[in-house]
This record gives sequence, C-alpha cells and structure tokens, in this order.
Amino acid sequence: MWWRRTLSRSCRWCLGCRHSGAKRIWSFHYRALRSAPAVPAGRITALQALDIWKRHFEEEGVTEAEQSSQYIIAHLLGAKTIESVERQRLTEFLSKEKMEEVWQLCSRRLSRMPVQYIIEEWDFRDLTLKMRPPVFIPRPETEELVELVLTDLKSRSADTETRQTCLEVGCGSGAISLSLLKSLPQLEAFALDRSQDAVDLSRENALRLGLQDRLRVYHMDVIKDAERILGLFSSVSALVSNPPYLFSEDMASLEPEIFRFEDHAALDGGENGLTVIRQILTLASDFLLNSGRVYLEVDPRHPPLIQRWVEENVEGLQYVETQNDISGRPRFCILQKAVT
Ligand code: GLN
Repeated sequence: MWWRRTLSRSCRWCLGCRHSGAKRIWSFHYRALRSAPAVPAGRITALQALDIWKRHFEEEGVTEAEQSSQYIIAHLLGAKTIESVERQRLTEFLSKEKMEEVWQLCSRRLSRMPVQYIIEEWDFRDLTLKMRPPVFIPRPETEELVELVLTDLKSRSADTETRQTCLEVGCGSGAISLSLLKSLPQLEAFALDRSQDAVDLSRENALRLGLQDRLRVYHMDVIKDAERILGLFSSVSALVSNPPYLFSEDMASLEPEIFRFEDHAALDGGENGLTVIRQILTLASDFLLNSGRVYLEVDPRHPPLIQRWVEENVEGLQYVETQNDISGRPRFCILQKAVT
C-alpha cells in the first residue's frame, strides 16, 4: 500500500499561522540549545522510539511533534510513512546502529530543521524529489498551481502532439517544471534560478526522474540577467513561477523552520512582495508566443495589485483571471499575451 506524505497545512504551510510573531521568535532563541533525550541503555522497539521522540518534541515545543518522529523513523525503516511499515517491524528491537541513526536524525529536528531536509526528500504530486537546504521546499499550494497549469495547457493545445514549451522563473528543487514534464510528454521546459544550489538540485532531480532530456536549467537572476535571458527565450507557450512573494516586513516573523533553513532570496519579494513579480510581468510578453500565458502563485493580497499594475504599466499583456487555492484564498494569477 502506498501512503502519501503530507505535513499539515495548519502549521508551517498555512499562511494564517505561518508568522509566529515576535514572541515565538524570542522564545525560539531562548530555547535554542536543546538536548536530545538520553539514548536508552537497553534495546527498544521502533514504537518505543516513536513515543520517546514524540513526547520529547512536544516538551521542547517542536511543531508537528508526532508527524516529525513518524516521518523520520519511517524513513530510517525504508518507508515513506509509518502506516506503511509492517506492524512486526515496529514491534521488534532496533539494532544499536538504527537506534543511533534515529537519535542523530531526530536531534536535528530539535534545531527546527524541517523534516524534508532531515530525510533529504519529499513528495510533490506524483514525484519524490531530493531536498537539500537552503533550497526552497515546495508547498502544497504549488501542487495546485501545477494542476491549474496542466489543465489550462491541455485545454489550449488543439492536439496533444503539438510541442509546447514552458519557462519557469525561480525553479528551486525543480518541482514545478518536473511535474509538468512528467504529465505532458510533448512539453519541453527551461528553468532558471539565481541560486546555484537550486540549479544543482533541479538538475539532480531531473536526472533521478529521467526527465533531463526535456529540461534545461540556467543559473540566472531574472532581475540582474534580464538582457541575457531575453536573448535566450522567445516564443514559449507558458511562463510559470512561484516567485519570492512575501512582504519583506513579514520575513522576521516566519516560523523558525523557514527563517533559519530556507533561502531568504526564494521567499522575500521586497517591500510589498512584488519586486520579482513585476520583473517577470515586464519581460513576459517578450518570452511568450501570441496568446501564451503567465501562471503565477502569489500572496492573497496581490491579485488586485497585480491586475492594476499590469493595466497601467505593461503593454501587450492582459490579466485573465485570479483563481483561489484550496483554502479559498486568491492565490493564482493568469495573464495572457495579446495577439500582435
Ligand atoms: N508560500 C510560501 C510560504 O509559505 C512563500 C512562497 C514564496 O514566497 N514563493 O512561506
């Protein structure tokens, strides 16, 4: 049986409680030097280890205590979720080496390292991707963005044999481009990121998934390298991005998992979160085919601001619509290049 890995939306991924507030940040620093529970002298089972670490995480204020211990221990037992580990394996004694590994990996979670970085992989739609700090960990909302792009691209292509091309700005681990490539065999993708770590990880994930022949990844910054990028891409069918879109003022109150471990450049969108978004929209019509579309994941405060800004500042690009995420928040913007 296959079990899907998810961490709850209501914790680190949820916009509503993502910002922990100054109090939490201070309490985090105050409690930064946490120690692991003593390694048991005798032998213990996986179930006992799960219980020890769940309780320890709870006592130390580590979020998603139970899920954290379950994902880490399942991973060390060669499974994705604890539910998919045979009951017998959970009730037999762990070897000394396995127990040391449990203590080593679970101790990392005490520093609030995200589970995804500890186990070095995570699922995104139907893909398992390698994860490595500080490359941005894809969020559930971005799975919805991919779904939306897939549906729209499929409905817009008259026949499924037509070759389509996609450009992704800020690819991180490669999640968006690789998912699109996996579902659309006729698609070719180009992806860029300003971080060499992200470029390396995207390439590694493409290779692991056997999608490297249809993905080219470039180490480029959409603002600093605009001229070079314009020289490289034209006539793409779709431009997709989950850009850095947080308002700078909100950065200081992010959860420790995000603030301490993820690349701030992949999150901080400047004063009103629009710095990279505006640059993408300024360049968009030069990249796109006639009627080609831009698909963006944004902050729920952004869609009306983006619509107004495009209408006032960008020729040749029309705002098509805003779509909500699963929680009902305006989250995705679709724009289209006018036919010239
Ligand atoms: N949604 C992300 C978060 O919750 C931010 C994504 C981004 O800036 N691209 O932290």
